[in-house]
Order: sequence, then structure tokens, then C-alpha cells
Amino acid sequence: EATPPPAPVTTQGVTLDMVGGLTAIVAELRQIAVSFRHPEAMARWGARRPQGILMYGPPGTGKTMLSRALANEIGADFREIRTPEILDKWLGGSERNIKQIFRDARRYRVPTLMLFDEFDSIVSYAGAGGDAASQALNAVAGIFKQEMNDLIEENPNVIVVATTNFPHRVDESLIRSGRFDVKLSVPKPDEASRAEIFRKMIEGLVAAHERGGFRMFADDLDLAALGVASTGMTGADIKEVLRRVQMTKAMQDARTGGLVEPISQEELIAEVRNLRGSV
Ligand code: ATP
Repeated sequence: EATPPPAPVTTQGVTLDMVGGLTAIVAELRQIAVSFRHPEAMARWGARRPQGILMYGPPGTGKTMLSRALANEIGADFREIRTPEILDKWLGGSERNIKQIFRDARRYRVPTLMLFDEFDSIVSYAGAGGDAASQALNAVAGIFKQEMNDLIEENPNVIVVATTNFPHRVDESLIRSGRFDVKLSVPKPDEASRAEIFRKMIEGLVAAHERGGFRMFADDLDLAALGVASTGMTGADIKEVLRRVQMTKAMQDARTGGLVEPISQEELIAEVRNLRGSV
């Protein structure tokens, strides 16, 4: 019982500036960050800072990234609670795990963002059916709601972010209870957003790797054309395109002792087509 909670994970230097597209969401998260950094302004106006955020949308659209960036912006500890830490096949086991997690959370003395990934798999609504399995599922959702209520009453330092690819599976009473006062739909990026994601990721790579005379990317890249070519792709897919191109270049480099041209538009487009063909 006396085991200390696991140490917080870092936000890996992820910031809201690195997010491509999703302008309205980023603006809202910036406001939430201000509400944490300026409790005096919130108190003066009797404004309540949001402590529960639900993010929903397809995989790879940046929900985890946004959570990390928000924690960074607040200067909060980032604690990701993974589903296997909660779900337990024994009767009552999952409830016990949830209680323990929230008991720890009530003691956090510094701003802390708790991320519950795959939230639907923790608190899926099993319907009003009477069988034991669905009763057990609904019990887990009930405990979560109760614990989150208590936590928010007791500890203003904590912000709970839950993410899901399947919002309609999440127990509705939990969402309606008002504890998730911010609900954000995180869609797949449109053409302009994809171009911006390419730009931001490429800028990040350039900043991290171009030094001395070494050039990583050709300087005549057409980002708009990359946005067009990558129809249907998410940020995670774009990251994968870049990872593959980097790998190809590194292999060429290893063969030739560094005699490699910078990454060209054609190579990027080819890898986009390649990946689109495989997914
Ligand atoms: P899942 O639902 O599968 O957990 P997710 O929505 O949490 O997915 P992330 O894990 O945040 O997605 O995204 C994977 C990676 O893709 C991120 O680490 C980031 O590098 C990149 N990425 C996704 N969306 C964006 C975006 N809009 N701007 C910049 N990078 C992005």
C-alpha cells in the first residue's frame, strides 16, 4: 500500500508550437494553460479552471501529443496511466486499481496532468444488460466517475485528460456528469494542415540535425504539393513518411561514406505514395 506512485514522465520537450493545424484546439489549450498559471486572475473573476478534458478522434491525429504539449505549457508533471495498469480480470480488481491511482493523485502538490489513453476500454458502457460482465464494466465506469468527482473537489492541481478513438463507447453518464467540461474533437488533418505538419516536422529535423555544411533537405521543397499528395494521412503517417526517408538516406550514407544529396521533393512524394499504397 505504501509504494510511492511512479515518477512522472517528461513531456519530451513537446510544445503546442509543434502542432500542425488544429488551430482552435491549440488556442483552447493555451487558455487552459493560462488558467493554471494565473490562479489569481481566475479567482478575481470567480472563473473555474477546467480540470477534465476529453479528446476524441481517429488514431494518430495528435491527441497524445496535445496532452504532452499542454502539460509542458502549464509546467505540469505528465503522468500517463496505461490501460493495463487499470484493467484486472479479477472481480473488483479494476476498481481497486482506479481507487489507488486517484488516492495517489489527491496528494499531488504540483500541477499534474494525468492522461488516460484508450479511455473507452476502461469505461466502456456495457448497456443496461444484466449479465455479470456488463455489470462489472458499468461498475468500473461508476467508480471512475466517483473518484474523478472527489479528486476535482479536493485537488485543484490536477488536470485529467482522457483520449479515445471511440467516443460513443464511453459511458455517457461519465461524459455528461460535467467533469469533462472540455470536449475536443481531433479530426484528421485537411490539405493545408498536412502541409503545415510537414513544414513543422521538417523544421524540427533541420533544427536538430543540420549543422556545419550538412544539409538534410533540399531548399526547393513544395510543401503545398506534399499536402495535396498526402490525402487521408494523419500526423502519425506523415511522421512515418519522414522516418522512412531518413532511413533510406542513412543507408545510402553508410554505403557511400556520406556522399548523399539532401532529401528531395521527389523522394518525399515517392514515399508518400508508397505509404498510401500500403495503408
Ligand atoms: P492514438 O489515438 O492512436 O493514441 P493520437 O491521436 O494520440 O493517436 P499521437 O500519438 O499524438 O496520436 O500522434 C503520433 C505522432 O504523430 C505524434 O507524436 C506527432 O509526432 C505526430 N502528429 C500527429 N498529429 C500531429 C499534428 N497535428 N501536428 C504535428 N504532429 C502530429
